[in-house]
Amino acid sequence: MQNTRKKDIRIKAASFRENCRIGRYGIIDLFRECERWGYKLLRYPLGENADLGFVMRRDSDIVIYTNTSIRLSREIFTLAHEIGHAILHMESAASFVDNDNTISGRDVDEMEQEANYFAACLLMPDDEVTKFLDLEMEDVEDNDLSALDIAKLMSEFNVSFDMAINRLENLGKISTEQRLRLDNERNEMRVGNLLRSVGGNYHLNVSSNIVQIPSEYMQYVIFNYNNNAIPMETLEKTLHYYHLSVDDIKDKLVVHAEENEDELADLIGGLTD
Ligand SMILES: [Zn+2]
Repeated sequence: MQNTRKKDIRIKAASFRENCRIGRYGIIDLFRECERWGYKLLRYPLGENADLGFVMRRDSDIVIYTNTSIRLSREIFTLAHEIGHAILHMESAASFVDNDNTISGRDVDEMEQEANYFAACLLMPDDEVTKFLDLEMEDVEDNDLSALDIAKLMSEFNVSFDMAINRLENLGKISTEQRLRLDNERNEMRVGNLLRSVGGNYHLNVSSNIVQIPSEYMQYVIFNYNNNAIPMETLEKTLHYYHLSVDDIKDKLVVHAEENEDELADLIGGLTD
């Protein structure tokens, strides 16, 4: 990636971040920011082996999906990556589907690399990382960072252990040897335990399995059902995703003609009996 392009991506990430609610260092809730920005966000547990996320244009909407079966810190990174595609690449393609290869940076595709760079700049901007190391850590020049320090950083920036150490290396804050040592140290102490021992957010290390679908999609499905565009079966299936049943929304449904006919038949039947 050329330096001018990198700078352009940093500017776009910074401009998105300016509108976000920030805690001491990190974005508090990227999912909420995604919706506030106007994207339609879908979160659903599709299983650990399914794709991690996608972004697509649908009419005038940008729809972003993230898989909630993966651990939360990774889901947040996936979301940041999809936002990157949405901001940088939707002129070039109508959709991007992301899996382990594209999200972990093994895919050499230029646009995938760019989306990952955007995500890194959005979640862990250079100046905020520098400030964190200066204010929260013992003198980093003289003292090596420990896995516990990384756990603190994870909690502040809402990122995974891998993301944290890779970003620190890319920013030149730690050497490759330090990164490898931290990686080993992490393997000895499980990340969940590390997060607990620094009083951090251990939810980052587990999957949320959340189901979140934009409420207007529900209105859209009801509208389609009421206008005979979809059968009851599809309506029921969609409601199931929301953990709702037809009874829960009965007052919003129009009784269809065929059901009326049935009722009429019953009535007529009743009269002729
Ligand atoms: Zn991608």
